[in-house]
This record gives sequence, C-alpha cells and structure tokens, in this order.
Amino acid sequence: MTPLSDEQIAFVQGALPGVILHEAMSKHTNFRLGGPAALYVVASSSDGLLTAVQTALQAGIPFYVFGGGSNILVSDDGYKGLMIQAANREMSIHENRVKCESGVITAFVARKSAEAGLSGFEWAVGVPGTIGGAVYGNAGCFGGEIKDVVATVDAYRLSDGSRMEYPNAACAFGYRDSLFKHEPHVILGCTLTLQPGDTDAAMRTLNEINARRKAKQPLAEASAGCMFKNFDFRDESELKALRRNSDIPQGMIEAKRLSAGWLVDQAGLLGKTMGNIKVSDKHGNFIINTGGGRAQDVVAMTSLVKMKIRDEFGIMLEDEVQLVGFGE
Ligand SMILES: Cc1cc2nc3c(=O)[nH]c(=O)nc-3n(C[C@H](O)[C@H](O)[C@H](O)COP(=O)(O)OP(=O)(O)OC[C@H]3O[C@@H](n4cnc5c(N)ncnc54)[C@H](O)[C@@H]3O)c2cc1C
Repeated sequence: MTPLSDEQIAFVQGALPGVILHEAMSKHTNFRLGGPAALYVVASSSDGLLTAVQTALQAGIPFYVFGGGSNILVSDDGYKGLMIQAANREMSIHENRVKCESGVITAFVARKSAEAGLSGFEWAVGVPGTIGGAVYGNAGCFGGEIKDVVATVDAYRLSDGSRMEYPNAACAFGYRDSLFKHEPHVILGCTLTLQPGDTDAAMRTLNEINARRKAKQPLAEASAGCMFKNFDFRDESELKALRRNSDIPQGMIEAKRLSAGWLVDQAGLLGKTMGNIKVSDKHGNFIINTGGGRAQDVVAMTSLVKMKIRDEFGIMLEDEVQLVGFGE
C-alpha cells in the first residue's frame, strides 16, 4: 500500500481535529500487539463515526473501523490508513427493547439488561469488545448468539452511501458470520429484543456465566479469544471420513460440531511456543502473547496449528480472528 501523502494527512487533520499520527495498535488490541496506524481517531458519536469514514473517502485513503480490538490481529507493520475506533456509546432501555450504539461495550449491555430484569443476553457478560464487533461476527457463547436477540441493525452501506435499518432476517447471520463480513458497512448501532424476566434470576445467571468462563478460559492473558472457528459437520458420514475419528466426545457428535480447542489439544499442541507467542495451556483455541510478541509469530503459529490439524484429522480450520494490515 502506498504511503499517505502530506496533502492527504493535512486534509484528514483539518477535518478530524482529534486525529493522531503513528498510533501503536498494540495499545488498542487485546492481543497487545500490532504496529502503528498511520492515522488514528476515536469517534465518540455515531455522527463522528460517519464523519471519520467520509473524511477518509474524500481523502482517498484506506480506513478500518473497529471497536474493542478484541478480535483483530494487526500486522507488525501496522495499518497504512486511518484506523477509526467506534466509541459511540449511547444506550437506552425501553420496556424489553435495548437500543445501543455500536461502540457500547457488550458486557455493559449484558449487565444493564440483567439489572433491568431482562433476560436472554446474560451469556454476553464475558464477551470482550463492543456491540458493533459482536454484531459483525455474530458473537456467541454458552449456547447464546447475538443473532437470537437482534431485532434491527442500523448501518451505513459503503457500496452506495446509504444508511440502512436491517431487520434481523436481512443480516444473514450464521456461525460467527453476518452480512457485514461480506458487504462493507459501518455498523452504527442495533436494537435488541429481550425477554421480560426477573432481575435476581438474570443476575444469578450472569454471575454463573462469569465464573464458568474464568474456570475454562485464560481471560487475563493477551489474546484475541478463540483463534479458529469450531468445525461443523453435517452428518456421521462426514465424521467417519475424517483421518482420525476415535475418542470424539459424545457431546460434540450430538452437536455436530468439533471444538477447535479440543482438536488443538488432541494434536498435542497445548503450551506450544514460538517466540513470545504460545498456545494456552488452559484452552487450545487461545493463542497468547506472553509479552513483547510479534504478529508474524501469531501467523506462523496459526499456520502450524492448521497444518497439524489438517494432517492428523483431515480438517482445515478457519480463522475466527480478523487480520488487519497484512498483505498490503
Ligand atoms: C478473552 C476473550 C474471550 C472471547 N470470548 C468470546 C466468546 O465467548 N464469543 C465470541 O463470539 N467471541 C469472543 N471473543 C472475541 C471477541 O470478543 C468478539 O468477537 C467481539 O464481539 C469483538 O468485538 P470488538 O468490538 O472487540 O471487535 P474488534 O476486534 O474491534 O473488531 C472485530 C471485527 O469487527 C469489525 N467491527 C467492529 N466494530 C465495527 C463497526 N462499528 N462497524 C463495522 N465493523 C465493525 C472490525 O472491522 C473487525 O473486522 C473473545 C475475545 C477475547 C479476547
């Protein structure tokens, strides 16, 4: 990617007074790694988010909208355009409808909804990042997915510059997938529909979920959560065709989903280290930066894991984490 010209930088600085030059992305990602963004701005309102995007378009420079940085891997060379952090954080609850801007922290929405006696989003209390990021990747855990509670998504469609209100059915939600992964949009907010319930019960569920997560996942470490999608299979014949198909837990057979963490564990890769990058000892689908790690070592580690799983099981794992600034 060609470096930005002085004119482009001056144009962006004129239009976005808060813009920062050469901002280390390691400060803004849960992985605690990634090189500098040529330009960086925090958008603290939805209008500000749109202004930042339109400024980048007018200046003819690439841009990347992100939220909490909990599901991105930024290259060691950084990003040679404008990184825009969605920090538009307005939220309101009316009866059983929760309206949030895309930069609202997901765990905050889960907690506030439970406190308001609403049920159905407790599972999200441990999902780091923002609602915009959760909608983008159809975040989920413990049997819940955001697709089950989204009523509408407010988004700016980049192909024709129109602001859309997508009903749930138009969002093409799938396993860690949505329309927004395939057609460029800036997610501005969404409305969730939850079930009226009981505050005490919702808070109990929320606390139980927090405790279960802490027991199973290395939450205090620098990571991007699960690196790989779990492997879904359609029927037993697909399972029988695998290179190695013994000892698969019954629960996974019934769910027709092999956990990527289990596959990594079975391949003997727990604790595997490369530079300062390590496969967690606690959960095989978490790759950890133990301090001063490099994005290129994460890429090397994910390649090694994928090859090992392909060789042992005949399964090609897919990335769950989004790569930023690679191959430019
Ligand atoms: C310890 C840990 C545990 C995790 N556990 C889970 C889990 O249980 N379940 C789960 O699903 N995920 C989990 N994750 C992954 C991550 O938290 C989720 O994917 C989360 O929803 C990402 O939100 P974010 O704001 O951090 O997104 P970011 O990392 O900032 O961005 C992720 C992607 O979303 C896009 N995006 C973000 N905001 C917008 C917007 N406003 N408009 C357009 N695109 C946008 C970005 O361009 C990027 O491609 C975990 C991560 C960590 C570090």
